Amino acid sequence: MKHLDISEAISKAELRGQTVVVCGWVRTFRDSANVAFLELSDGSSFRKLQVVIDKANLTVESACTATGAAVAVRGTLAQAYKGEGNEINAQTIQLLGKCPAEFPIQKKRTTLEFLRTIPHLRLRTNTFQAVFRVRSVAAQAIHRYFHAHGFYYVNTPLITASDCEGAGEMFRVTTRPWNDSAKSEEEYYKSDFFGVKAGLSVSGQLEGEVAAMALGKIYTFGPSFRAENSNTTRHLAEFWHIEPEVAFAELPDVIELAEDLLKYLIKAVMAECPEELKFFDSFVEKGLLEKLTHVANSDFAVCTYTEAIKILEEKNSQFEFPVHWGSDLQSEHEKYLTEKVFGRPVFVTDYPKEIKSFYMKQNADGKTVAATDLLVPGIGEIIGGSEREADYEKLVAAMDARKMDKSAYKQYLDLRKFGSVPHGGFGLGFERFVMYVTGMENIRDVTLFPRSVKNIM
Ligand code: ATP
Ligand code: MN
Repeated sequence: MKHLDISEAISKAELRGQTVVVCGWVRTFRDSANVAFLELSDGSSFRKLQVVIDKANLTVESACTATGAAVAVRGTLAQAYKGEGNEINAQTIQLLGKCPAEFPIQKKRTTLEFLRTIPHLRLRTNTFQAVFRVRSVAAQAIHRYFHAHGFYYVNTPLITASDCEGAGEMFRVTTRPWNDSAKSEEEYYKSDFFGVKAGLSVSGQLEGEVAAMALGKIYTFGPSFRAENSNTTRHLAEFWHIEPEVAFAELPDVIELAEDLLKYLIKAVMAECPEELKFFDSFVEKGLLEKLTHVANSDFAVCTYTEAIKILEEKNSQFEFPVHWGSDLQSEHEKYLTEKVFGRPVFVTDYPKEIKSFYMKQNADGKTVAATDLLVPGIGEIIGGSEREADYEKLVAAMDARKMDKSAYKQYLDLRKFGSVPHGGFGLGFERFVMYVTGMENIRDVTLFPRSVKNIM
């Protein structure tokens, strides 16, 4: 259909006086004695186009003014009577698709909980339009950042045989019928599609390291799958994962990259989505713009796990789970550190080796590994990363200590045999980033069709 995007119809002053056709969905209808107004959205712009109907010259059938109806409007663009940009004086309004009154997205504000029950329609609200516009801009900015910094974009497999760190968290991939009974696990998988146990990848890191050991700087940006049973506001069974991996890099380089990337992404979203962020600042998280401006322009904090535990131990009485050196940090501790102690994003470094993965570089103290988590206010962990163990013997020792099957990691160990170098990287959860920049508090509300325990609508 020949028509003009509403974004252009609103913003282009040079089109004033011209007759154009715009298409969209009716958001609101206001009627008065001589004129009536439709607000039209086609997704191209967060702002809606005001359609002015001069009732003396144009009678509009009621189906065209119903909330949610799809229409094509031919008319003349003119400077808006109120506010910036253009409005359109309608000559004809053609109904493209009617929308009966049972359409659940009506003018009155509905709750996010209710909207989660209609994922196929909730995108027609201001909130979700803003979320998904920000999400798209952020995705583009991620590719731009890495391309500009000499990183190659690689695609790691989603189906994998190594169950890496995610033993219990892995979804199985199988073609065997449900009622098949086998004598042993091995026999069962032997007759399965791949001949071995296979699953959906929880992370592209191990393959990312393979690529980094040849291409130098790489990143992945794709889905990861985790069958974690945690029904929280920060976990999905299927999420998008950004995982850079860099050769000739140590932990401080990994931290520098993470901070630089995050600041770049925040600035990009602020520059490209000012209307959306203003909306979030008013209706979702008061002070969001101030927070983002501050974060984009000041240094993140850095503190070791050992220092963090000292700080937290003094507040143990107020935690559900008191901490001591060796405990894993729970969400309540992460939030306390970043919100109350530092008041800004903080990198926690050098965790006890027992609570981190086998592949993390072992520090000289024999107790900790060169890992880092980036914690941000409102969310907690947004990035998890580390320098990787580059020493063959030490890596083997870490795997033995965990009773891992080394034969499944031959390729990974080979990287330490053939020209091993210091290297590291991290994983950034894309949805958690989108939550952070929009102020949305539930990960289900920044994902088109969120998948979580007992939820696959
Ligand atoms: P958490 O402790 O929050 O469960 P994690 O330590 O298991 O996260 P990592 O394995 O370090 O997570 O993954 C790197 C990043 O991927 C995390 O910092 C987070 O931003 C994101 N992430 C991890 N699991 C999920 C999930 N289930 N849903 C959405 N994002 C996730
Ligand atoms: Mn982590």
